[in-house]
Amino acid sequence: MEVKAVDTGSNSLLDGTLPPRLGRPHGSSPSVIVVGGGISGVAAARFLQNASFKVLLLESRDRIGGRIHTDYSFGCPVDMGASWLHGVCNENPLAPLIRCLGLTMYRTSGDDSVLYDHDLESCMLFDMDGHQVPQNTVAEVGEAFKKILSETEKVRNEHSHDLSVLQAISVVLDRHPELRQEGISHEVLQWYICRMEAWFAADADTISLKTWDQEQVLTGGHGLMVQGYYPVIEALSKDIDIRLNHRVNRITNGYNKVMVTVEDGRNFVADAAIITVPVGVLKANLIEFKPELPEWKLSALADLGVGNENKIALRFDNVFWPNVELLGIVAPTSYACGYFLNLHKATGHRVLVYMAAGRLAYDVEKLSDSDAADFAMRQLMKMFPNAPAPVQYLVSRWGTDRDSLGCYSYDLVGKPMDVYDRLRAPLGNLFFGGEAVCMDDHQGSVHGAYSAGIIAAEDCCRHLIKRLGSLEMVQLVSSREEILKAAVPLQISRM
Ligand SMILES: Cc1cc2nc3c(=O)[nH]c(=O)nc-3n(C[C@H](O)[C@H](O)[C@H](O)COP(=O)(O)OP(=O)(O)OC[C@H]3O[C@@H](n4cnc5c(N)ncnc54)[C@H](O)[C@@H]3O)c2cc1C
Repeated sequence: MEVKAVDTGSNSLLDGTLPPRLGRPHGSSPSVIVVGGGISGVAAARFLQNASFKVLLLESRDRIGGRIHTDYSFGCPVDMGASWLHGVCNENPLAPLIRCLGLTMYRTSGDDSVLYDHDLESCMLFDMDGHQVPQNTVAEVGEAFKKILSETEKVRNEHSHDLSVLQAISVVLDRHPELRQEGISHEVLQWYICRMEAWFAADADTISLKTWDQEQVLTGGHGLMVQGYYPVIEALSKDIDIRLNHRVNRITNGYNKVMVTVEDGRNFVADAAIITVPVGVLKANLIEFKPELPEWKLSALADLGVGNENKIALRFDNVFWPNVELLGIVAPTSYACGYFLNLHKATGHRVLVYMAAGRLAYDVEKLSDSDAADFAMRQLMKMFPNAPAPVQYLVSRWGTDRDSLGCYSYDLVGKPMDVYDRLRAPLGNLFFGGEAVCMDDHQGSVHGAYSAGIIAAEDCCRHLIKRLGSLEMVQLVSSREEILKAAVPLQISRM
């Protein structure tokens, strides 16, 4: 092991150095390094700090929040990563904190299914020539889509092996010609598939038929965070020792200690570590583990899909579009369909956000920012030929950003049942958090990532108490209650 410097100060175990003897002074709190400062990492760190552990959080970027990224450069909050609370209900683990912070949400749908995070009455669809699709066509094709999906259940039951959702849809359409759509209705059907792909951030030919509808969606519908998601991160991270611009590239899992090495060669040592970096980062082997991760962990990483979604946010001087939540373009393929989220309706700010998922999201990342904004404008001008140029734009690049390498996890076709158990299983003094390892099928969400961080911290606490014996200094608290107590009801609106 390389030792760069010696510091026996009170926080020495965490401070980029190794003390001369790797012992824990009698009565001192155990130390934990949290790798990654997204919601999972800050939740884990908050829990441990509340429980009187010494905590250090190492974050590679120059900001915390990870895939929660509220940008303020438009003069108003624009979430370029997560923006909805999926499940506006008291069971949502984030509800107490959101209530306490007095944050408001705008409910875009009361539906609990994974498909409809926007109510259809607030969508306006247009064809490629700029003609509005009649609402009754949108509703009728919506009903046909529901029937097609329910028929795919039979296809699922007939096959012992998994298929993709797209394969199953094509089997159903072969069997039920009456469900096939022609002309504009076919294009609307493609738009529904495009919306489904947006939920998984993946193309329908890669989504698992076996599991796509097995997700446990919380009740209460989907609420857009009107003030943006960042206040949640800010509140959780208060008073935590966070080191920004600390990109971890090696983790050495010793018998008693964990040593975490950052890009410039500095080492940080603690009794345990919680790893919350995105699955995309682990899949790409950007962090070297010593000893190497076992085969069962590596295969779990390989077996899990990571999707991609990007946003192109456009700010305008004037509002020239109708007062609906979603403006969609229908087309002959789901790839060519698209939609804009109208932030003006939910927040009052003159911003439209184009959302691209799956292959299209990767293709957007091949463009420069200005070309991506031009691409979004061409889509918008199909609906509004006289649309003026935006005064500002923002483009996300979650797929190629080396600190995310994808937007969130999803189930690939043929995913083994125990993938998530293997992903979250600890290895000695190493614990795993992050959206992909969360329990109860809430992968890919903010509240799932939050819970995964808390569970990893709880497991880490139990492990250290067992390993290090009596810990009179450690006051274990149930951070779920302690983090912030519920005071006022969730504030939800619909304009
Ligand atoms: C475009 C988009 C839209 C989304 N929409 C929603 C939504 O509306 N609602 C919802 O619930 N969820 C949504 N999600 C998903 C949600 O954002 C994530 O599930 C959640 O934020 C993940 O949190 P996390 O802490 O697990 O990971 P992250 O937030 O990615 O945190 C991991 C942290 O690790 C850091 N890191 C990476 N590599 C290293 C390294 N080598 N060393 C140190 N640090 C490192 C990263 O910089 C990052 O800060 C969306 C995601 C995206 C990208």
